[in-house]
Amino acid sequence: MKDQGPNKKIFYRGIIRVVIALIALAFVSSLIYETRDEPATINITELAHKITAGEVMKIIVAGDNLKIELKNGEKLVSKKEVEAGLTQTLVNYGVAPEALGGVGIESKEQSGIGFWLSIILPALLPLIFIVAIFWFLIRQAKTGVNQAFTFGRANVHLFGGQKEKTTFADVAGLKEAKKELEEIVDFLKEPKKYTEMGAKIPRGVLLMGPPGTGKTLLARAVAGESGVPFFHISASEFVEMFVGVGASRTRDAFLTAKKAAPSILFIDEIDAVGRERGAGLGGGHDEREQTLNQILVEMDGFDQGTRVIVLAATNRPDVLDAALLRPGRFDRRVVLDLPDIREREEILKIHAKGKPLAKDVDFSRVAARTPGFSGADLANLVNEAAILAVQEKHTEVGQLQLYESIEKVILGPARRSRIVSDKEKEITAYHEAGHALVAAGLKDADPISKVSIIARGQAGGYTINLPLEDRRLVTKSQFLADLAMMLGGYASEKIMFKEITTGASNDLKQASTLARRLVTRYGMSEKMGPLTFGKTEDLIFLGREITTEKNYSEEVAAEIDREVRSFIDNAYRKAVQIVTKNKAALKAIARALIEKEVLEQEEFYAIIKPFKLRGIKA
Ligand code: ADP
Ligand code: MG
Ligand code: ZN
Repeated sequence: MKDQGPNKKIFYRGIIRVVIALIALAFVSSLIYETRDEPATINITELAHKITAGEVMKIIVAGDNLKIELKNGEKLVSKKEVEAGLTQTLVNYGVAPEALGGVGIESKEQSGIGFWLSIILPALLPLIFIVAIFWFLIRQAKTGVNQAFTFGRANVHLFGGQKEKTTFADVAGLKEAKKELEEIVDFLKEPKKYTEMGAKIPRGVLLMGPPGTGKTLLARAVAGESGVPFFHISASEFVEMFVGVGASRTRDAFLTAKKAAPSILFIDEIDAVGRERGAGLGGGHDEREQTLNQILVEMDGFDQGTRVIVLAATNRPDVLDAALLRPGRFDRRVVLDLPDIREREEILKIHAKGKPLAKDVDFSRVAARTPGFSGADLANLVNEAAILAVQEKHTEVGQLQLYESIEKVILGPARRSRIVSDKEKEITAYHEAGHALVAAGLKDADPISKVSIIARGQAGGYTINLPLEDRRLVTKSQFLADLAMMLGGYASEKIMFKEITTGASNDLKQASTLARRLVTRYGMSEKMGPLTFGKTEDLIFLGREITTEKNYSEEVAAEIDREVRSFIDNAYRKAVQIVTKNKAALKAIARALIEKEVLEQEEFYAIIKPFKLRGIKA
């Protein structure tokens, strides 16, 4: 672990440089001002003499101070007696009233301070100037300076005090996770109950689950329920440009939490630092390693009496360092899954609270159409529906707006305004009809729930097929059906127009990716057998697969390519077969699409019913 030495040193060196520059400036300016003649001070007796001698032209009275201008241009200052007026004083000093008559006496209602200020100010000006420059420089450097001061400090945020407390009631579903965390809350509230029983207190709880499943939300709910201080930090904040910062911030965060015990420390997105050590790419890896080590050290440093519980969240438990998961660290693991249909309905209802709903709203049907949606997606969906309702000038959110928002969340907003030529519209219609027809013709494909040729996001049109029920496992047959369906658009274009457009490029990309996965990841190729090929690393900051380390020979690589190709070829053959055998149905779907632009599930199946699809499925 390195300390903060270098950073501090640089900072202090800077300060010293500024101070030296200032001293030099002050010295130079004092030289300049030394040579300027200050008005000499005389006493009141001398003034009286000068008046009598007729040398004085003007006296300016400001409070007790006198500014005297002589006829020869010389300037003097003096002070009169505090109580008496100037004339009175001068008369007392033996000045004849006639002599006084020749002197202009001006009285300025000025305080003594003001007078002196007017004399001192010119001398002060350069100093003020310098101070101003200095202040300006500091302001400029402020961010940097602040950082230098607080570098090793963690930005631990104390939760609570928010206007709206999050509670478990705000979290739908996630029953097991909630139960687990309720225990933790209970322990923090009444530790005695547990210690008397001899029960060991959990140190760390790791929340794991895909993005948007409510990990952060759940942690916030724990904060709301427990009533103890709750510190929140995102692990990505630990990782900075400078090595050593993360470790020192970790120390600081734990210290803060310990001081406030009983308390909860929540480290969000812990995979940012907790990745398997030695697996890093680029320069960040040393730093993460140190930070991770520090977290381990801190957690081991808790003695049995320490009432600090460390909560952490990650969506990549697979990349976490094994050391984090050892007993005494994050020994409790809570898995948050994507919501099932009933949970989706609950989540929708939670987020619809406070929004005026039309009578026709049926959340169970929205839930049925949103398999694979995370809690965050559903929250987003409800919000989009509300926005849509406003735009369409409804007073309530209706079922239609909810349906419309499903596609918006999946594909981006509709672009109805995009003007398409008739030819382009026809091609798009046949393309989508191809997808839909192939899916309908395969018994392993999911049923079509919507076909549309309204552009959305990047897509010129889209076909949505959804599983009847949530599925966790996907079979090889399902994958093969998906592959064929992906190529249905391409097949249809080629057969109908003897020509291919760019519209199919995304389909091809998806199909290629899927086919390669079947071979290299899922062991679904007969020839390659139950092996995985290639080791993928994730680039930390993007969280995406970036590099694929080839851990196989060139021959194997060629074999993989052949297998991928054969998957694609077979799928394409199937698609072509279905399209050619059912051209009449294809044409009917395309015509309906050109006319209506959107076909819902019932409409679609009504159109193809009379054709009795020939091929694979009745
Ligand atoms: P992550 O797991 O990525 O940390 P978040 O906790 O940030 O996900 O969830 C994002 C948003 O999604 C939450 O603020 C909430 O609005 C919504 N959400 C996710 N899961 C649920 C849930 N189970 N119940 C209610 N809302 C949820
Ligand atoms: Mg989160
Ligand atoms: Zn397509």
